[in-house]
Amino acid sequence: MSVSGEETPLKIVASRELCRGHGQCELFAPDYFQIDDDALVVVVKDEVAPEDVIAVQDAVTHCPEAALRLEQARDGARQ
Ligand code: SF4
Repeated sequence: MSVSGEETPLKIVASRELCRGHGQCELFAPDYFQIDDDALVVVVKDEVAPEDVIAVQDAVTHCPEAALRLEQARDGARQ
């Protein structure tokens, strides 16, 4: 773990193929996840603000279908 003083933003990756519409994500982080008319997750905003990281991580952890992931976002590059 490095602490360089430079924060790397986290981005949400959601799989609508895996999603079963439980809505746990929306309960934990409603500013980031919504369930649409097809009962599938929609990521409202994919870049996570530092103050929301814990709530979004809770949403990812509690997704029963493992349909959500967090990735580190870097300018012009991703893994
Ligand atoms: S918790 Fe997971 S399965 Fe449920 S709506 Fe959210 S992404 Fe879909």
